[in-house]
Amino acid sequence: MVNLYFLTSKMAIEKSFFGKTHSGESVFKYAFENKHGASIDIITYGGRIISLRVPNKKGVFENVVLGFDTLEPYLSDPFYLGALIGRCANRIAKGRFSIEGKTYNLETNNAPNHLHGGSKGFDKVVWQAEIIGDCELELSYFSKDGEEGYPGNLNVKVIYELTEKNALEVSYQATTDATTVVNLTQHAYFNLSGDFSKQIANHEISINADKFLPIDETAIPIGELRDVTNSPFDFREPKIIASEIEKPDAQLLLGKGFDHCWALNNNQTFGEIATAFDRESGRFLEVFTDKPGIQLYTGNFLGEPLVYRSGFCLETQHFPDAINQNNFPSVLLHKNEVYNSKTVFKFLVK
Ligand code: BGC
Repeated sequence: MVNLYFLTSKMAIEKSFFGKTHSGESVFKYAFENKHGASIDIITYGGRIISLRVPNKKGVFENVVLGFDTLEPYLSDPFYLGALIGRCANRIAKGRFSIEGKTYNLETNNAPNHLHGGSKGFDKVVWQAEIIGDCELELSYFSKDGEEGYPGNLNVKVIYELTEKNALEVSYQATTDATTVVNLTQHAYFNLSGDFSKQIANHEISINADKFLPIDETAIPIGELRDVTNSPFDFREPKIIASEIEKPDAQLLLGKGFDHCWALNNNQTFGEIATAFDRESGRFLEVFTDKPGIQLYTGNFLGEPLVYRSGFCLETQHFPDAINQNNFPSVLLHKNEVYNSKTVFKFLVK
């Protein structure tokens, strides 16, 4: 069944049934299109972006995010394709942390660490959806005290808006009734060529960061903010991924490619922090955020049914393992506080 919600004469938001989870919950798909023909499909399972179509320099619209068109492969997806990630994106060393004198032990689903909120993180739950504007969808999720081992009842809201400037705005909000950890992100894999049989090696990336966070052999930051100068991690000027990723660098070997967080220069004030460019299609992506860090992940663990390194993620977030590292900006959310954050992915052509 397809419901059409005509909010203006030109635009429609289409809601359709997408399937049922293994526990029988219904999942819906919401499809938006702006006046210029850019469009996005979001499903309530994991709040996932399953397709995002934007023009190339010749005006041809193609999907630029990795995804599937049925629910089944998402139910066992190990790659977090297009998903909202929480309660705490990225890794927590050994799944352990203490808050207000109490120690919490989380699942070590990425042994020996905890990754992306656990094996049933926000990417694997069904969100409530409400259409709140022409091209605007509000997703909400109530995460119970103790869910995946985290303390505090957490109310989470994420608003996706596709603007008339072909920007996807992602606004996050959360409140809790007890001190907890919150670090939310979006895990879309981009391939601006629109051809997912191709690796993303030819994309040019820039990241406005003088420092990155070197990791240990289990991908946990070692606590240092390292100067990027003269290293493959220097993306202050745009560089092609291919020219850097195979360099014999100890950090690249540990990440099996880029799988690192950069400490952004804008220092938690909203601004442009990264770009990606595919010269052949002319598609150019600008990323804006107010988060302190960005994880560039070059799809080093992608495999069947997808192509190795056929997408890259630009995950705006707090620093990995921040809950255990006092020199990193805090990821604690207290009762009566509001977690508020915004990331924008703007699609242009050059
Ligand atoms: C992490 C990778 C991890 C991947 C899972 C990324 O955000 O940085 O290490 O393998 O998510 O898809």
